Amino acid sequence: MNDRFAAVALPLPLFEPYTYHVPDTLADRVVPGARVVVPVRSRELIGIVTAVDAPPPAASPKPILAAPDAAPALTEPLLETARWIAGYYGAPIGMTIRAMIPAGLWGESRVVIAVAPGRGGRSHGGTAGALLEYLERKGGAAPLATAARALKKPLWDVADRLLRVGAVELTTEHADPERSVATDRELRLAGERLTLLERAARFARRPARQRLYEAVESLGGAALLSQLTARLGFGPGVIRALVADGLATIAEVERPRDPFAGEPGTPPPATLSSDQSRVLEQIDAVRPGDGAVLFGVTGSGKTLVYLEAIRRALGAGQGAIILVPEIGLTPQTVSRVRGMFGDAVAVLHSALSDGERADAWRALRRGEKRVAVGARSAVFAPIERLGVVVVDEEHDASYKNGETPRYLARDIARVRCRLESARLILGSATPSIETMAAVGPRLALLRLPERIAARPMPPVEIVDLRSAPLVATGRAIPWSEALDTALGAALARKEQVILLLNRRGYASFLQCPSCGRVPECPDCSISLTLHRAPPALRCHYCDRQEPVPATCPECGAIVHRARGIGTQQLEELVAERYPDARVARMDLDTTGTKWSHHRILDRIGRGEIDILLGTQMIAKGMDFPNVTLVGVVDADTALHLPDFRAGERTFQLLAQVAGRAGRGPKGGRVVVQTRDPEHPALRFAARHDVEGFLAHERAARESPAYPPALSLANVVISSETEQAAARDAGIVAEWLGRLVASQSVGLAVLGPAPCPLARVQRRWRWHVLLKGASEEIGRVVRYAAPRLGELVRSRVVLDRDPTSLL
Ligand code: ADP
Ligand code: ZN
Repeated sequence: MNDRFAAVALPLPLFEPYTYHVPDTLADRVVPGARVVVPVRSRELIGIVTAVDAPPPAASPKPILAAPDAAPALTEPLLETARWIAGYYGAPIGMTIRAMIPAGLWGESRVVIAVAPGRGGRSHGGTAGALLEYLERKGGAAPLATAARALKKPLWDVADRLLRVGAVELTTEHADPERSVATDRELRLAGERLTLLERAARFARRPARQRLYEAVESLGGAALLSQLTARLGFGPGVIRALVADGLATIAEVERPRDPFAGEPGTPPPATLSSDQSRVLEQIDAVRPGDGAVLFGVTGSGKTLVYLEAIRRALGAGQGAIILVPEIGLTPQTVSRVRGMFGDAVAVLHSALSDGERADAWRALRRGEKRVAVGARSAVFAPIERLGVVVVDEEHDASYKNGETPRYLARDIARVRCRLESARLILGSATPSIETMAAVGPRLALLRLPERIAARPMPPVEIVDLRSAPLVATGRAIPWSEALDTALGAALARKEQVILLLNRRGYASFLQCPSCGRVPECPDCSISLTLHRAPPALRCHYCDRQEPVPATCPECGAIVHRARGIGTQQLEELVAERYPDARVARMDLDTTGTKWSHHRILDRIGRGEIDILLGTQMIAKGMDFPNVTLVGVVDADTALHLPDFRAGERTFQLLAQVAGRAGRGPKGGRVVVQTRDPEHPALRFAARHDVEGFLAHERAARESPAYPPALSLANVVISSETEQAAARDAGIVAEWLGRLVASQSVGLAVLGPAPCPLARVQRRWRWHVLLKGASEEIGRVVRYAAPRLGELVRSRVVLDRDPTSLL
């Protein structure tokens, strides 16, 4: 027996890898980055080798059981990226690697052994013969652990020998309980829609059936059962009843897989504009390992620049990654990438099952696909000879991972490009303040100052709701004459309209008019949002649902007043005022499958929808030339959140949604309703003055100082009791204070204080904020990360470079 040991990272919250003995037979496959199967207590887990020739452990080490891949899963630069992330964010290495590799390749595993098709013709004696015989009896294949139990022998060595002579094949099967189901079930309304009179008759004393009927109706006449039960809260009884009434049927529908498969994709424009050519020359001049910010106004043709840069990389024998904010929301971008590169593209989207995701990943790893498109985790796509990484809409908040490791994909893209000598392109019409601050010798600033075909930016009209003439609609929604007139005119010209209201549901909250009580979620410290179709009070943090109270539980008053507005109510209002318009709503509640967006967008493209209304989902990446009016119903929904990015986020949302107007020859305009027209986010957005806003915001973050003036790490301490959270936050703050003082590090330790969102999902939340130079934050994070968990009983989450402090 040799005495070589390997360090193996497991998908567990451990800061140190485990050490295992490397059996001779596996020595050539156990290399850094390789997947291995190892015993952990009574289980077999898949881990990743992080180092070979590790020092022998104190206790007697267990052996590595198998090494299923011929080539290591993680390339050396990806493993290096993992180490960087673990160090920078203070995350356990195993959890970090878990976030990088698809679940289907990782975690608890079952190794299945199968007789190879040719199987070499040789006969085997002893245990090997017994194993082959056993497999033949079982139809050719069985889980190795099952076989070992049946034959009462450890089989790893034997399996390995048989594998090497080609007699068997080993596959690792992920033990995933949610293994993909190929079909979903859908409830479809049958026959003609009922008239109001028929409804009154058929649904008398059957309000639940009516609600279900109308919910499905508002979702376009069909809805997935899973959506109706899980998201909208209908029970199986009422669904069965509606079917028994003959009003609906249940049908099996194939779950949409890759909606792009088989689609030809959108072919690219034939020639580059002169601005696009200039920018591409500048990109060619970027040194490999460095990057560029592509600061181009909405509609300036950034996508074609990305594609052309990727085409050049592929021509040089390299591969590419393109990150998009949310892949379900950006089908047009994906379609353009496919239109250019066809089958060389792997689309990594969230609707893939674990198995499909693993397949796409393997195709990239083997070099069969050379371009990866996806949301933030696609930054880990295993592409060798990486030539270019594009981050589209680089400012987007979705690039930050919400769990350990809390990485920002944009920053990881930069790290990967440096490690692999690839070029980075950060594209946006509204670049983040951090990115602009990072412009320098290694990050060039490239501009596309004009829209394609010199189309003007749409004029933006700000409507001050405090003084502007309003239309009496009988609803809480402020509806100015200006917006109403513009909308009517656009519809009369057969043009399309986008209405943004960044709050889903019907009304923001209920309030008792006599005592003022507002129902709140008992688990989270926010008010419950009123929904209709079906009616319920719902928590937008934990999705808790409650019936709408008939009387005030506080004072018994009968009437509740709905305050604030949501997209459901906007939809009603629009339907009342423009009965002939074809309206679609797009928000989290209308999207039962990931691909509902895709369908809605297709219908807009075909001109089957006149008005699209929705939350911020509709602000991203859409390119429809017939949209001539964008209306922002309430620009103030996020303006006054207690977060240092509230202004920046509002500005970006307004600028992005405004950018949807006037992309075609007919031009366009934007109407923004607000009660705070003097707010810088609104003033600069109205003038399309991105640079002005950046300068303003940059100055504002000097005092009090926020990024990029300095760096932050937010330590959130949470517990089920308020006292424990407060006490433990005090302990953490004191410990960090002593650490900072003893190391004479120039960091400020702020807090402890309750988080602005004081309670989420039953947990009370407190936080301690570290402010200071990035290197010093880094030193403290590296030291504190493995120790904070030991310090207190409460849960401690360390978030370096937080994107929000809520
Ligand atoms: P951005 O991402 O900068 O907002 P897009 O890449 O969506 O802009 O481009 C806006 C529109 O201009 C798209 O419809 C695109 O097809 C078109 N376009 C881009 N480049 C060209 C070009 N060189 N010639 C003609 N049309 C172009
Ligand atoms: Zn809640």
